[in-house]
Amino acid sequence: AVSMALSMAACGSAGGDKKADKPTAGSTTSKNIGLLLPENSSSIRYESFDKPLFTAKVSALCSDCKVLYNNAQGNTATQKQQFDALISQGVKVIVLDPQDANATKSWVEEAAKKGVKVVAYDRFAAGPVAAYVSFDNEKVGELQGQALVDALGDKAKDANVVMINGAETDPNAGLFKKGAHSVLDSKVKKVVYEQSGEWDPKTAGQKMGAAITQLGKKGFQAVYSANDGMAAAIITALKGAGIKDVPVGGQDAASDAIQRILSGDQAYTIYKAYKPEAEAAAEIAVNLLQGKDVKSVATDTADSDTAKGVPSMLLPAKVVTKDNVKDTVIADGLYKVSDICTAA
Ligand code: BGC
Repeated sequence: AVSMALSMAACGSAGGDKKADKPTAGSTTSKNIGLLLPENSSSIRYESFDKPLFTAKVSALCSDCKVLYNNAQGNTATQKQQFDALISQGVKVIVLDPQDANATKSWVEEAAKKGVKVVAYDRFAAGPVAAYVSFDNEKVGELQGQALVDALGDKAKDANVVMINGAETDPNAGLFKKGAHSVLDSKVKKVVYEQSGEWDPKTAGQKMGAAITQLGKKGFQAVYSANDGMAAAIITALKGAGIKDVPVGGQDAASDAIQRILSGDQAYTIYKAYKPEAEAAAEIAVNLLQGKDVKSVATDTADSDTAKGVPSMLLPAKVVTKDNVKDTVIADGLYKVSDICTAA
C-alpha cells in the first residue's frame, strides 16, 4: 500500500525545486551570525534545507539575531572572500561548511585571533573550531555499501562494482568511501573502477562514461555514487549507453532522487535529517554569541582523527528505498506527497 500510494504511476514529472538565493546583505551589528555553505550544484540540500532551517532556528532562539548567508559555489577562493567579508562586517560567530576542509586552518586561526568563533558544519574544517555538527559519516558510507549489496541481492557476490566518490577536499567524502569499502570489499566480487566525481554531476557523468568504455557494458553490475546529484548524471550516462538493471545509489534524499527511486531508476538514497543538524548548529552559534557553553548541545566525540577532541554532535542517517519513502522523508516532513508526486 505504501508503494502504491507513492507509485510513479501517480507521479507526474515534478519540477526541480532548486532556487538560488542572493547573498544576504550585511550590517555591522554583532548580533549577526555567518552561515557559509560550500556549493549548490551537486546537492539541493544547502539552499532547500540547511539554510532555511538554520535561519529559522536562529530567529526562534534570538529575535534580534540575523543570519548573513553566502554560498561558495564550489570555489575555495570565493569562500575565503565570503569568510573575510563576514569578519570585516563584525560577525563574531561563523558557521562554516568548507569547500576545502584543509584550506580553512589559517582562516580559523586568524579568526580566533580576532575573537571570532567558527563552527564546522557538516564537513569538518581544519583549525581551532569551537564545535562540529554533522552525521556519523563513516556509518553513512556503510549504509550506502550495504544498501547497494541489498539491491544486488543474490547477485552481490558475483558483482563487479563501480565507485564514484565525492571530492577529496571534503573529509566526508573520504569517510563515505571508507565506510562503503568496509562493506563492499567483503560482500561483492570486486570494485573494478573507482574515481572521484568531485561532487560535480558533470564530472561524475564523464567518469561513468569512461568506466563504460573501459569495462564494457556488461563489465559491472552496480554503481556506488556518493550522492544524488552525481547519481542523476550517472543514471543518465547508463541510460544513454542502453545499460539497464544496474542498481545505482546516492545520498541526500533529493526530491528528484526520491522520484527516481519510485520509478525504479535509482536503488536508494541516504536520508540525513537536516532539521536536527541545522538546528543544533543554530543553537551552538547562538550560545557562542551569548558567551554560553556549547557542550550542552555538542555532547559527542567526533570519530575522525582530525576532529578529535572537538565538542561534536554526530547524527544518525537512514537508508531510503522504494519500500520506506513514506515512513522516512514523508513521515519526517521533509516532503509532502505532492512535492514528489504531481497528479497525472
Ligand atoms: C555532504 C553531502 C553532500 C556533499 C556534496 C557532503 O559533505 O555531507 O550531503 O551531498 O557534501 O555537497
